[in-house]
Amino acid sequence: MKALVFHKPKHVSVDTVDDPVIQEPTDAIVRVTSTAICGSDLHIYNGMIPQPHDLILGHEFMGIVEEVGTGVTKLKRGDRVIVPFPIACGHCHFCDMDLPTHCENSNPEMYGPQGEIIKMKGAGAALYGYTDLYGAVSGGQAEYARIQYADYNPRVVPELLSDEQILFLTDIFPTGWAACEWAEVSNGDVVVVFGCGPVGIMAQKAAWLHGAKRVIGVDRLPYRLEMAQRAANSEVINAEDGDVAEIVREMTGGYGADVCIDAVGMEAHRTTLQKAANVLQAEKGSMSVLKDCFDTVRRGGRVSVVGVYGSPYDNYPLYQWFEKSIRLMGGQAWVQRWLDDLIKLVAEGKVALDDIITHKVPLSEAAGMYDVFNKKEDGCVKVVLKP
Ligand code: NAD
Ligand code: ZN
Ligand code: ZN
Repeated sequence: MKALVFHKPKHVSVDTVDDPVIQEPTDAIVRVTSTAICGSDLHIYNGMIPQPHDLILGHEFMGIVEEVGTGVTKLKRGDRVIVPFPIACGHCHFCDMDLPTHCENSNPEMYGPQGEIIKMKGAGAALYGYTDLYGAVSGGQAEYARIQYADYNPRVVPELLSDEQILFLTDIFPTGWAACEWAEVSNGDVVVVFGCGPVGIMAQKAAWLHGAKRVIGVDRLPYRLEMAQRAANSEVINAEDGDVAEIVREMTGGYGADVCIDAVGMEAHRTTLQKAANVLQAEKGSMSVLKDCFDTVRRGGRVSVVGVYGSPYDNYPLYQWFEKSIRLMGGQAWVQRWLDDLIKLVAEGKVALDDIITHKVPLSEAAGMYDVFNKKEDGCVKVVLKP
């Protein structure tokens, strides 16, 4: 089959590789009909999360079940499914607590900062197409993918909805939803979302659905701010226009936002690094969007982080956290926890997810699309690949 393979930073190509096969009775094979490139893929592409071996990337995908293992009872050949990006067994200590991204069976080994194996129960679930650290599992930017724990993870989806309408339920909409759940966004909140990439815009859509009074998107790229205005009906601030915290305080009678969401993560380090190539390692943390969130949130406010941070140690704005009594939460989104409810929201027309798609191309063009999405050229917000 054809698949998008990561070789080394900035080197990905669509190669001919072996077809996936059933390895466990609980597996299924899916013929991928649509798959997307995610900002998380860029961390691997840019070498920010190291990946020493070739790996098929892609954790946002859906398709048609081709084959099921002997132990699979809930899926059958021909079912049309979406596949959550975290792989969870559905029956371990953490899955029982509805914490699928902490499943202790899908990724049994956790590595520490020096590459040492950490012996602790639960390792952070395996993720499709997301480095050795997350289980070295082949991803879904491919013609076929092997799905693990097929009775627990994939969801059969209504035929009436197109791929484009539901594809983002595999990751970015549940991730935006997680950001709002974790920050307990509720009626009347002023919510500031840092980042108007796909994840930030989904967080903005989710904030409205949680009852926010005002939703404000922050980015540095005018075309992405325009997309946030159009797709999420948000107010926007260009981070290049001054001190965002000060601007938000001016907009909120001097108080600051009730909730800030970091939908940027390490990306901010990269853009900052591009501006000041000689920046010191120790300074990077202090330039993080997390710090911007802590500056911008009101006293007693809430911050949630869905942008990925990958460095083992980082400067952390402890002073503001303590002094302002900030509540903080973050992590990989617990997609499976909310997925059935979110499918319903989309099916009932309460939210549209496909309006951020700017590029839809055959899988064969995936390598070039990584470059376009990474450089944020050609008005690119979200790329969908069609195997
Ligand atoms: P993206 O790269 O398309 O978007 C990031 C956006 O942040 C860009 O529009 C960029 O211009 C903006 N940005 C950069 N520096 C900024 C700054 N200092 N202030 C404001 N905006 C700034 O990526 P994406 O697909 O939207 O993903 C965003 C983040 O979410 C990534 O870190 C990704 O890995 C992460 N993610 C996390 C989860 C999860 O489960 N937690 C799931 C999916 C994605
Ligand atoms: Zn993703
Ligand atoms: Zn589990």
